[in-house]
Amino acid sequence: MKNRSSSLLLGLLLTLGSAELVSAQLFGTLPERCASTQRDSVRLAKNPSLVNLRSRSEEVIERHIHANRVNLRTSADELITIPVVVHVVHNQTDRAVGGASNVNISEEQIQSQIDVLNEDYGNTSGYKGFYTDSLSVDTKIRFKLVTVLRTFNVKTQFSPITDADDLAEISPAWSTNRYLNIWVCRLSDRYLGTSQFPVVTEITDRTSGLATSENEETDALTDGLIIDSRYFGRNSSAITSSIYNLGRTTTHEVGHWLGLIHIWGDRNCGTDYCNDTPTAFTKNETTDLTCAPVYSQCRTAITRNMIENYMDYSPDACMSIFTNDQKERMHAVLALSPRRVKLVEFSKITGDKLLVDIYPNPVHETLFANIFTPNFEIYTVGVFNQKGQQIVPDMTNRTNLNVTSFPSGLYFYNVTTATQTITKRFVVR
Ligand SMILES: [Zn+2]
Repeated sequence: MKNRSSSLLLGLLLTLGSAELVSAQLFGTLPERCASTQRDSVRLAKNPSLVNLRSRSEEVIERHIHANRVNLRTSADELITIPVVVHVVHNQTDRAVGGASNVNISEEQIQSQIDVLNEDYGNTSGYKGFYTDSLSVDTKIRFKLVTVLRTFNVKTQFSPITDADDLAEISPAWSTNRYLNIWVCRLSDRYLGTSQFPVVTEITDRTSGLATSENEETDALTDGLIIDSRYFGRNSSAITSSIYNLGRTTTHEVGHWLGLIHIWGDRNCGTDYCNDTPTAFTKNETTDLTCAPVYSQCRTAITRNMIENYMDYSPDACMSIFTNDQKERMHAVLALSPRRVKLVEFSKITGDKLLVDIYPNPVHETLFANIFTPNFEIYTVGVFNQKGQQIVPDMTNRTNLNVTSFPSGLYFYNVTTATQTITKRFVVR
C-alpha cells in the first residue's frame, strides 16, 4: 500500500489532467494485474535454496548476454515457435462452451489469445506510443496452439498464488519440456493472472539436459501460466473489462515465464536488468485509457516512464513494447533454462515424418516414449497384446506407460496421428 500511495502522490505531483484524478478515485476497484511476484515468494518460502539459485541465475544470464552479444543477435533473429497447450478448468455443469460469464470459453476466444501473442511478440500490434517507434522490437518468438483440454471441476475459483498444484492435478501439464501450458480458470483475490519464473542453472546444464533436483521435479509439474478467463484473448462476450480486454495479461505473464521482470523492478526505482527500459518509480496501475504520460524521479533526473511496455501494469490498450534488451534476456533464458532449452530443441525439429522411440526395451516397470510429430500435431497411443487385443485405452499425448501389471510377453505400442501410424514392439519381463 505504501508503494501505491507514494506512486499516486508522485503521479499527481508530476502530471496534470483529470484522467489522473479519475484513476485515483477508482484505484480501490482495480483488479491486480499480476500475481507472479507473490506466487514466487510462496515458492521461495517453501524452497529457501531457490534464493541462491536465483541470484546465481541473474549472474549467469548477465554473463551469457555479455559473452554472446554477437551470437545472441544472430540466434535471436531466428524465429522460435513455442507450442501452447491450453487447459480450461471450468464449473459449467452442462459442459456448454462459450457465452457471457462462462469460464468454459470458446475456441475463438482461445485462438484470439494466440493471435495477440503473435502480434505482441512480433511487434505488429500497431499501437504507437511515446517510446514505440525507436525501441519496440520483434522478439522473434512465436506461438502455436496445439490443443485445448477442457476439464470440469466443482471449485468456483482458484488462488493464483497457492493453487498451481491444484490446477496441475485437475488438468495435468503436457510435458513442460516441450510445451507452454496455460491454465484458464476463474481466479480469486482480484488477480488477472500469474506465471512461474524459469530457473536458470549453469551453462553446463544446457548440454546435460538432466537437471533433476527435487525442486525442479515438482516445479516441472506447474511450469506455465494461470489466467482468469475474463482476461484471456479479446473480442469475446466473456471479456467484460474495458481496461484489460485485449489479451495483454497473457502477453505480460509469458514475459515472466521467459524471465522478464516488472519494469519498475518490484521496488521503488528498482531494476529489471534491462538497460533500455527507463527506471520507473513504480507500476502504472491506472484506469487512464488515454495513456497519458507518467514520470518518475529516481536519483536526480525526471524520466518518462515506458508505460507502453508489456511488463508494466498499464491498461491493455496502452501497451505495445518489448525492448531489445528484453528480447535478449528472453532468448538468454531460452538458451539457459533446462526446460526451455529442451522446448526450443524440440520445437526446432523439422520434418514431415512421425518418429517414435520407446525405451527401455525389454522393460519391467515404466516404458518411456520419445515421439516427434510434424508441426506439433497431437497423437494417440494404443497398446495391444500379441492376440491383437487392446489392453490400454487410447490416450492422447502419452509419453510413458506403467507395465508392472502386464504379464510377461510381447506387446505393441501403436502411435497414430491424423495421417500417420507407427507400431513398435516391446517386451515385458
Ligand atoms: Zn507481472
